[in-house]
Amino acid sequence: MVSTFPNSSSVDLSRIRLSIRSLQPQLVEWRRRLHQQPELGFQEKMTAEFVSQKLQEWGIDQQTGIAQTGIVATIKGNKLPTPHSLLPTPQVLAIRADMDALPIQELNEVPYKSQHDGVMHACGHDGHTAIALGTAYYLQQHRQDFSGIVKIIFQPAEESPGGAKPMIEAGVLKNPNVDAIIGLHLWNNLPLGTVGVRAGALMAAVESFNCTILGKGGHGALPHQTVDSVVVAAQIVNALQTIVARNVNPLDSAVVTVGELHAGTKGNVIADTARMSATVRYFNPSLKGFFNQRVEQIIAGICQSHGASYDFEYWSLYPPVINDMKMAELVRTVAEQVVETPLGIVPECQTMAGEDMSFFLQEVPGCYFFLGSANPEKDLAYPHHHPRFDFDETALGMGVEIFVRCVEKFFS
Ligand SMILES: [Zn+2]
Ligand SMILES: [Zn+2]
Repeated sequence: MVSTFPNSSSVDLSRIRLSIRSLQPQLVEWRRRLHQQPELGFQEKMTAEFVSQKLQEWGIDQQTGIAQTGIVATIKGNKLPTPHSLLPTPQVLAIRADMDALPIQELNEVPYKSQHDGVMHACGHDGHTAIALGTAYYLQQHRQDFSGIVKIIFQPAEESPGGAKPMIEAGVLKNPNVDAIIGLHLWNNLPLGTVGVRAGALMAAVESFNCTILGKGGHGALPHQTVDSVVVAAQIVNALQTIVARNVNPLDSAVVTVGELHAGTKGNVIADTARMSATVRYFNPSLKGFFNQRVEQIIAGICQSHGASYDFEYWSLYPPVINDMKMAELVRTVAEQVVETPLGIVPECQTMAGEDMSFFLQEVPGCYFFLGSANPEKDLAYPHHHPRFDFDETALGMGVEIFVRCVEKFFS
């Protein structure tokens, strides 16, 4: 499906859409500039500088250097509340964007190709930053249209090691206290003109473990004198698959992937040790702690039965992204107006990928959603994190429009 935005022939274009349409060339310019100077997590110096300079130019209050390179812009609406809607304190809505790039060598031959060797905006965070800037610009120009405070959070290091948590620890959700938060990810798994939004779990928890099997090496022809770490590791890898197949409720989705397995040096030598690394994903927050325990039980049991021992470390990276029902409904209603058809709303958009937006959503109710950005006709459909990833920039204006309409609806 291809959106009617911004080339709609409809005469009844709303005031918001008209303003944002005129902003589209700037959105593209900012995005391309950011695309040319991608920076890895916590190194977003040029990016933060660019954002900060724009905010300053537009007279927007900002705090910089939060969690190293993060920025928070604060815009106060000055629409007078109607007498019956008087609230003791103004409501605060946060909008979150991430700014970091990936250690990937770009293979696109475009005029705005990355100028930083081995670093690329291959996830679309350049677009997220441009959309957040466009939203800040629009809201600052239209303060009379909303009552309340909007905090725009420009976050570092989403890809790793995670910038959301340190920003929360630095107090970005406080003073004034944020009541709700929204955020988006440009999404090439969905076509341009669609929005993936749903209440409840959207993205998975991300956990990892490393394990080293400590056996006893020896001659390949004399296995009875050894403890073969390859045999032990193979049994562990297989047994780990029973966690999802036999321990997790079939109605809960989960993944255990052993992505790395290293052992041995030669075919006729029994390996002393075997080393594996894995990722674990799940949606249901009540499963926190379960995988850690069960994975180690399996490793311990199999090692014991073979006379091997093991080193094991398990850690949690991001919790699952869980959307609040009311905020998801607000985003869905707004998105439907922007894509202009209920068919453009895709509730079955869950993914086992992770996102540290989840930390914000643990603190305040909110909604994270996917903004369709693939356009195969323009060869813009490569997956995220691919060296040829790029997206249809028409989505930039749609992102701003959804955010702006969410702001007006949230405070009305
Ligand atoms: Zn990514
Ligand atoms: Zn991303």
